[in-house]
Parts: sequence; C-alpha cells; structure tokens
Amino acid sequence: MSYRVFARKYRPQTFDEVVGQEHITRTLQNAISAGRVAQAYLFVGPRGIGKTSTARILAKALNCVNGPTATPCGVCDACKEIAEGRSLDVLEIDGASNNGVENIRELRDNAAYAPARGPFKVYLIDEVHMLSAGAFNALLKTLEEPPEHVKFIFATTEAQKVPATITSRCQRFDLRRIPTESISAHLQDIARKENITMEPAAADAIARAAEGGLRDAESMLDQSVAFCGDNISATDVMAVFGFTPREVIHSLLDHVLARDAAAALAVIAGQAEAGRDLSRLLADLISLIRDELVAGVVGASSAPREKLLLLLDLFAETEARMRWATDKKLQFDVATIKAVHILDQASLDDVLTTLSALSRGESVPAAPVRQTPPAVPARPAPVAPAIPAAAAPPKLETAPAPAPISIPAPTPSAPTHETAPARQLPSEDLLLTKAEEREEKSIDASIAWENVARTYETSIKYRWLTKGVFALIEADSVLVQLPPSEAKELASFLGEMGRKDAEEKLSKALNRKLTLRIEIGEHLAVVEETPEPEPEPAPSPEVKASTPEPAAAVPQAPVGDPMDEFKNDPLIKKALEIFRGEIQTATK
Ligand SMILES: [Zn+2]
Repeated sequence: MSYRVFARKYRPQTFDEVVGQEHITRTLQNAISAGRVAQAYLFVGPRGIGKTSTARILAKALNCVNGPTATPCGVCDACKEIAEGRSLDVLEIDGASNNGVENIRELRDNAAYAPARGPFKVYLIDEVHMLSAGAFNALLKTLEEPPEHVKFIFATTEAQKVPATITSRCQRFDLRRIPTESISAHLQDIARKENITMEPAAADAIARAAEGGLRDAESMLDQSVAFCGDNISATDVMAVFGFTPREVIHSLLDHVLARDAAAALAVIAGQAEAGRDLSRLLADLISLIRDELVAGVVGASSAPREKLLLLLDLFAETEARMRWATDKKLQFDVATIKAVHILDQASLDDVLTTLSALSRGESVPAAPVRQTPPAVPARPAPVAPAIPAAAAPPKLETAPAPAPISIPAPTPSAPTHETAPARQLPSEDLLLTKAEEREEKSIDASIAWENVARTYETSIKYRWLTKGVFALIEADSVLVQLPPSEAKELASFLGEMGRKDAEEKLSKALNRKLTLRIEIGEHLAVVEETPEPEPEPAPSPEVKASTPEPAAAVPQAPVGDPMDEFKNDPLIKKALEIFRGEIQTATK
C-alpha cells in the first residue's frame, strides 16, 4: 500500500479548495471569467501557504478543455496532466537550481513554440528571487514582448529581492498566513476523511504551532498519525511535538501579573527540565498576552492594558534576543524578573490620576504592599569563583523598589518664601520618576551589551564573552557578569587589549564614554541601587544595594525654602504616602 503524505493527498485542486486565500482566488476567478488574465503573475508569501498550488490551479483554469474557466474540471487530460506535473504546456522551474542566464535563454527559445495541447504555455518559476542578474535580464526581454500564448507565474518568499523591472510587469498577489481556525478546521476535515479520531484541541495545537503554514500543519498531522495511530488526543500531540499545554502558559502569565517572580521562574524551570523548547514557550506567552490585550479592548480582561503593552514589548524584544542566545533560559529568566519589576512600578498615569483625585478632595487607597518578598529560586550552589574574592560582587536579590517621585529643584524664578507655592499639578514630564529613567537606561545598556557581545560570536578567543549578561549601569560604568565557568578566561581578557576594545564598542553604542566592569557572579537579578524611603513607610523587603556607596542624601532645605513648602503641601504629602515615594532633587 502506498502512503501519500497529507499535503500531497489533499493538495487543493480547485480555487474553492484553497484554504485561507479567498482574497486571491476570488480575484483570479473574476479575471478569468471576464477574460482579463494578465501576462504575468507574482505570488508572494511565506513557504507552505499555497503559492504553488494556486499557480497550478490557475494553469488548469487556462488550459482545461473547458477553459479558460474559473472552475477547471479536473478530469480532462489537460487538467490531469497538470495536476500530476507531467503537462508539456505547463513548465515548473525551480529558480534556485536553474538560476543561470543559459536556463532562461533556453526558456525563451522554447517559449516561441506553440503549446502542445492547450491554448497556453505556462511557465511557473518558483523562488524567482534566486535568479542571477543575467537571468533576470534575459527574462525581462521575454516579459517585454511575450508571445501571445505564454503566461508567466512567478512565486517567491522574498519579493524585495525581485528587481522592480520584473515586478512592475507582473500582477502581484500577496498570499497571507492562514488563520489558525482555518488550519484547524482543515486538519479536522482531513481526519474525518481518513477515519481518524482527533480531539479538536489537538487540531488547534497543531494549527497554532504551524503559524499560518498549511503544509507544516499537514506534515505535523502526518507525524501525529505515525506516532498515535487513528486516535489523536491533545495530550499526545503535546508530547510528540513538545508543546506546552495552554494551562501552563496561563499560569506563567498569572504569576507574572501577580508579581510573583519566584513562581514564574519555577514554571520556566519546570518547562526547561521537561525538555520543552523555551523559544516556543515564549512565543506562546507573547501570543497569550496579545490575546489578553484584544480581550481587554472588549472589556473582558482584568489586567491593565498599559502594563500588558509594556510586557508585550519586553517579551517581544527578548524573543528576538533569544534567537541568538546560547543560554535561552537565562534570557527568559531575566525578562521575567524585569516584567515583575515593571509591574511593581507605579505608572505615571497612576500618579496623575491620584493627584487629580486628591485635588478634588476624593480619598484614594494606598498602593498595595507586597506581603511576601520574592525569593530567589532554589538552584545548585554556585561554583567558587577562581578569582580573588574581593572581585566577586555582592549577591543580588530581587526586591520590589518603591518608585521615588522626582520633582524639580526650585529655580531662581520660583516664588519667594512669603508667597505660598501655587497649588498646581506638576506637568507630566517633571513627574517622570527616576526609577523609570533608570529602567530605560538599563534596558538600553542591556541591548548595547548584547550587540557588543554578538560581535565576539565568531571569535574563538572571546566567544565566551557572549555568556556575559548586563547587570547594572552606574554613572559611567557598565557592569557585566559572567558565569563562574568563565572565570579563567576573564583574567586574561582583563589584562589585555580586549577590554579596551569592548569598552570602545559599548561607548559607541551608548553614545558616551563608558568603562566596562566584568565580574564573575550569578547574573540572575537586575537590581538598581534604591534609596531607602524615609521614614520607612511600611514593612518592605530588604534591598541589598549592589554598590557599597550610600545613596545620595536628599538635600536638607532651609526653613521657609519654597522647596520645603512644596514638600509640606498636604496634597503632595498625601500623594507621596499613597505611592510610598519620596522627594528627590532632580539633577541635570
Ligand atoms: Zn479540465
């Protein structure tokens, strides 16, 4: 018994059978019915979404014994030959392997002859962007004055690589990724025809993983049948392809939104141990956040939209970085901790809303205080660093930092001490919290370091540097931490030109003079120095500052100073209390 893979067996034979590209098949059918078929078509789109299938159906529509027709019969000799790929009038050329000028010249010579059976000679060139410059020139000559009986259909995954002189002579169609629901329905349809029992959740899981590609989905169904036989459950599919169950992704997002870093990290660790693909897990998390955002628009989601957008940004950026990272889990962990950190900060919107509510005399509840400090997850005891202990940084811990509210220092034009300061809400930009600025800076520095480290990826000598992780930026120095396993290499790096080179690259990337500090440590947490609020507003987890220097003291204003009066303003005092903030003098 011969076995045909589903992608071949269920290849669409009519325009109506093409899944998810109705915008194109309908236009083509209309053009054929109206007798307005173009000389050349360009089908653009990712692999496995129906470019070649649609092209073959178009060829049948032109050459069917009833043709040109919008509904090729599929049973005449012309239709059958085309479907089986043995038609003398429909020539399929792989642009990747026949990309030379001589291949196209041959095509041109051949095109001059009349078709063998049908009314048209159809040239289907796949991956047309792979043609050489000479081949494109030869092709252009044919396109400029094509014989009446010749039609061209080009397909490409990279339209931007096709010269404009070619594309301008084609009618272009962009095929889109196929919606998950359409793929799922198609898979269930195949299952029915094959007498396979398949749980809808199993079809959904495959469809999601195929990311819009029907061919990929069909070949995953082939594999599922090979592993599971005629009874495919969602659990089986998860196991075969290493997918993470939806509930796990939901619980991961729930932990992040509950600002429980330890629980979120435990989920990631569990998935890593189970051998799951962490890039896939992150992609699933991103798509869940996106779903939540869409749900939020119609008012079904409880998570604040603004925070979800920040998380989406953060994780999308991490996804791009993870693609190149050797230690994917580390990237995921750091992003998760950053996410919790972002959620811990009072947003500017919160502050402004509260200030305006207070100025109207309304009462506002205080910001919730975390009852349990986020614990650093258990992990094996660190290997003792092979460098002097003095160089080892203090152990970093995650802790939610109350965001200090920064207000401007009084300017010479400020009111004298006889005049009470006008009760006016500070403008938005003046209220930007220091913590927010620092957060931005550290994200910039983190990206800059990633980019610098990547430049070492091809160097045998310094490749280990890519294992370093940005930890902290202070004034003019950037701290990067390396795992203990790299301690030996570090000693030589610090004594050579290497560091200077890396410093130059970093300084250039961040557009200011910076020194690079590299230390051996457990680069898990990204913590910034946090000034202790005074007085202690509530029992909060202890923050271990990563530098020994004490935080800059708040300048004591003399009695009667406008700054002092500002501080004593009941409205400001109340706002500080609510956000557990403190007044700092902003410095340029
Ligand atoms: Zn036919």
